[in-house]
Amino acid sequence: QDKVCVVTGGGLGIGRCLCLEFARQGGKVALVDMDRAAGEETLRQMRAMGAEGLFFCGDVAEPQALEVFSRTVAATWGRVDVLVNNACLSRQGLGSRCGYDDFTYVLRVGVSAPYYLTRLFLPYFGPKAAVCNITSSRAVMSQSDTESYSAAKGGISALTHAMAASLRGRVRVNAVAPGWIDTGAYHDPDYRPSYTPADTSQHPAGRVGEPMDIARVVLFLCDEENSFIDGETVTVDGGMTRLMIYDGDEGWSYGGK
Ligand code: NAD
Repeated sequence: QDKVCVVTGGGLGIGRCLCLEFARQGGKVALVDMDRAAGEETLRQMRAMGAEGLFFCGDVAEPQALEVFSRTVAATWGRVDVLVNNACLSRQGLGSRCGYDDFTYVLRVGVSAPYYLTRLFLPYFGPKAAVCNITSSRAVMSQSDTESYSAAKGGISALTHAMAASLRGRVRVNAVAPGWIDTGAYHDPDYRPSYTPADTSQHPAGRVGEPMDIARVVLFLCDEENSFIDGETVTVDGGMTRLMIYDGDEGWSYGGK
């Protein structure tokens, strides 16, 4: 309650869901996003709930944007209680001949920005502050042509335990690793999902994930009551990364060469 919460990539998807949940719980929420229309819509929805909010339009890959954003948050509320490093994107990999600049851009968004924003907020973290990084099950398993994204997610996973060690006793740092999360409803209010039977049955939980599945765990990890959880990554993937499937089992056919 009355916490100052910062969310990167809060314009759409999981980030928007997080902003709305922090707002619902009485938090003041600052979001940064490079999509102006999306960020303004998240801000509008938070204000419609009576929450205090702040939207900064910028690309988190740019250090100057992070510097101005963090100064704006500090000047507005003077402290930060929760930082969620959520923004990320993919520019594929070897299969698409992803070039050096595209590859390093994804690392800047997914790894450098979480590091630098945490550093910029160091003087402002409240006494029970928490950082939550959004990584992915793709930090530990891959499809082909995903090098830029997988490397960024491996990076943010390692950054999580490194920062937890550096900030011990001061700021807890944890991560959530989502599996397949259908973010459609946080892009388009009229969105109606349509899944094949295989889409759902490949998850031991029997369904595809939704942004609230992630938001609940982020809120849990950032809750000061849960102060004995630190440096941890919680996988929230409906069990998909725990299901071993051999060709021919469970109605599955690999279909490869
Ligand atoms: P999304 O594409 O629905 O939304 C991402 C938001 O971040 C957008 O508003 C976008 O404009 C913003 N953003 C992207 N790059 C930015 C940048 N450089 N600067 C500022 N804003 C930027 O994404 P999502 O699916 O909600 O993903 C959120 C996080 O969850 C990401 O870290 C993603 O890797 C992770 N994740 C998602 C899934 C999934 O299935 N949806 C699975 C695993 C991990």
